[in-house]
Amino acid sequence: MDGQQPKPQTTPQFRRVLEGLRKAFPQPISDPVHDAYMLYSISRALDVVDDLKSEAPILGSPVELDWQAAKSSRVADGGQTLEQVIPELAGYLNGMINWGHPRCQVNVVTLPSIASIIGVLLPSVYNPNLCSEETSRRLAEAEVRSTSMVSEMLGYDPEEAVGFFTFGGTGGVLYGLKVGLEKAIPGCMKTGLREEAVVLASDESHYCGLTATGWLGIGQDNLIQIPTHPDNSICIDALESAARDAIASGKKIAAFIATMGTTDAFGLDDLESIYQLRERLVEELSLSYVPHIHGDAAIGWAWSVFNDYDFEKNELEFRGRTIRALAAAKYRIHHMHLADSICLDFHKTGFAPYLSSAVLFKDRQDLDLIARNREAMPYLYQTGDYHPGMFTLETSRGGGGPLAALANLLLLGKEGLRTLLGHIVEMAEVLREDLESRPYFAVLNSENVGPVTLFRVYPEGVDPFTIKEREFTDPTFRKQLLEYNEFNRQVYQHVHEEALAGRGVAISQTDCYRHTDYGEPVVALKSYVLSPFSTEAEMQSILDRVYAARQRVEKEQITGGAD
Ligand SMILES: *Cc1c(COP(=O)(O)O)cnc(C)c1O
Repeated sequence: MDGQQPKPQTTPQFRRVLEGLRKAFPQPISDPVHDAYMLYSISRALDVVDDLKSEAPILGSPVELDWQAAKSSRVADGGQTLEQVIPELAGYLNGMINWGHPRCQVNVVTLPSIASIIGVLLPSVYNPNLCSEETSRRLAEAEVRSTSMVSEMLGYDPEEAVGFFTFGGTGGVLYGLKVGLEKAIPGCMKTGLREEAVVLASDESHYCGLTATGWLGIGQDNLIQIPTHPDNSICIDALESAARDAIASGKKIAAFIATMGTTDAFGLDDLESIYQLRERLVEELSLSYVPHIHGDAAIGWAWSVFNDYDFEKNELEFRGRTIRALAAAKYRIHHMHLADSICLDFHKTGFAPYLSSAVLFKDRQDLDLIARNREAMPYLYQTGDYHPGMFTLETSRGGGGPLAALANLLLLGKEGLRTLLGHIVEMAEVLREDLESRPYFAVLNSENVGPVTLFRVYPEGVDPFTIKEREFTDPTFRKQLLEYNEFNRQVYQHVHEEALAGRGVAISQTDCYRHTDYGEPVVALKSYVLSPFSTEAEMQSILDRVYAARQRVEKEQITGGAD
């Protein structure tokens, strides 16, 4: 002060940086010029990726992943412009499988609809937090609305039921088991798990059962995996004896998991029989609790849209094979309401981006079992009625899942969903028809009725009509089985390389479709049709490609087998 000259007024450096950074955000106060800049930036990113599209079911070209470069990357001192960042980000899509491509049948990964993409975009711009209605307002309503819509579709009474979104089907299973555990061992949420509990699921159920039992302290050894029939559904007799054994040995049943659409083969458990078994056990053994039934419908839920489809009239004019497959699935799915909780993935058979998974409870009061006390969360939930954060495992939850789901339920309606599912099942049926008409091929999951087909191809001289039975049941056939496993792996390699080069359809391979009766894994080729853009012609081209690959492998075995 004393004697010093006041410094000339200049803008501090950080303010100049800040000015620049403000342009990098959506404007909180309407600014149409800046809006245009934001949209243009998004569209630039999309354009860069669009240039990667081709005849091949992959974006750009196959890339070797450079872990070393990734590991050695550091945060720079200075930032970059949005324009510089965009191509860098878009470049990360290079080499990725283009899931929606008509020639892509790799796995149960969906092509999200435009509406569902907007459903994710809006919350990512405005950032609601679904832990409470205070921080999400009408987005909370969207969560209640979309879960009520599917609750009703699955046969629940939406007035009695409750639903919310979580981190995948895995999260849904975790919630189902957690509530079941609390029913079986009341108070264990508070006191910890001091008794042994088991979970019963089929040996074709999703491995998230292991995740959930492990994380919940039930223990993975207490996930009892029950054998399945050749149609990949749980053996009810075996389930019954395992349940009785567990109870007799003093263990509690935390839950039965009914898998409604296995991941690899679309096997559908007989939920009605599981339900009757549960009722019988409670009654006969005078259980002090009612063992929880969780329906894992991550994949199968969407088929409930056929619960009220008139298969006689068949207004959508599906062909006979398709109708039979859809009706057969409905026959199992329409019992979904017998489950106490259900998890469903919109990001699989609901054509929404990751993550969009809901879990539903038939009786909303079930959630009281896992709610925390209000006193534990003093700064939250001051006003309003909707506070999922009081019982969710997550604290913050984004709005993208529910809004994407709602977007598709509105966009598609029942007719749209029926059409998409009917289409993919029809495509699978085209493939199966083709498989059945050719020598050297066998369909493995011929009793399953979804969009996924598992098949095997055999070398010259193998009788495809009897081979399947022998492979699965005859232990003296072990050597051939393993040989044919290897044969199918090699055929797959060729088909895969060709597909990535833009020739033919990208299918996948599973190392273990099922185990044989004598305990060996059965390798299979797998076509999972999910793209609305798949066509009959593409389906019919698959086996030509596989056949050609088979010829190559046979030739290599003769000529190059020495090394
Ligand atoms: C995919 C799947 C899961 C796991 O779902 P995520 O959303 O990947 O966590 C669970 N169960 C079944 C039957 C599935 O197919």
